[in-house]
Amino acid sequence: MNIVLLGIQGSGKGTLVQDLSKHLDFLLVSVGSSLRDEIATGSKLGKLIKSKMDKGELVDTNIVMDTINKKLSDNKKSIVIFDGFPRSREQADELDKICNVDLAIYLNLKKEDALKRIMNRLTCSKCGNITTRVKCPDLVCPVCNGKLTVRSDDTPEVANKRFEQYRLETEPLIKRYRESGVLVEIDASKTPNEVLKAVMKVIK
Ligand code: ADP
Repeated sequence: MNIVLLGIQGSGKGTLVQDLSKHLDFLLVSVGSSLRDEIATGSKLGKLIKSKMDKGELVDTNIVMDTINKKLSDNKKSIVIFDGFPRSREQADELDKICNVDLAIYLNLKKEDALKRIMNRLTCSKCGNITTRVKCPDLVCPVCNGKLTVRSDDTPEVANKRFEQYRLETEPLIKRYRESGVLVEIDASKTPNEVLKAVMKVIK
């Protein structure tokens, strides 16, 4: 079963997969975190990726497809969840060449709420755990004791650019998957636990 997660930046896709992994066995294809891993290596490719990310732009589809194909190459899991992919018609066409999309989960959240969440978001520099300033004001990761940091693209300016990119390129995919009969819409303004429950009902 192949599942794509759609939703504006800050709608809770990363939190959802984090929570889902405690209940479900799946391969996670998280393009954003794979790209951040490449940045962390300090490679030339990583520098190119960082320059795009820090401007709130999409990374080139050929780079994204390379990371996805690498992830899928030795996959043995029957459920694959794509987080942060596809983000454009071009990418959705590429995905159709590789596999069928069985389910598209659309986490629906207003832009104003998404911005508030992004401004409150902290990510662990060691294990990638996503949390908030409210929960962890001491900036210590509750999972691994690593240092919690603000993502370099989580500034109001870059977030607004990413929202615009989402509106223009990613939002049209909601219609595409609705028309193909695989879209399920979830109210993402609810608590992480409520969102998790709603999603589990759809997957099981
Ligand atoms: P968010 O959904 O909050 O933007 P991600 O970690 O999913 O967070 O993505 C961070 C950045 O990584 C994006 O702004 C973009 O630059 C890049 N990125 C992630 N997924 C893709 C993708 N499918 N195609 C191109 N670039 C991507």
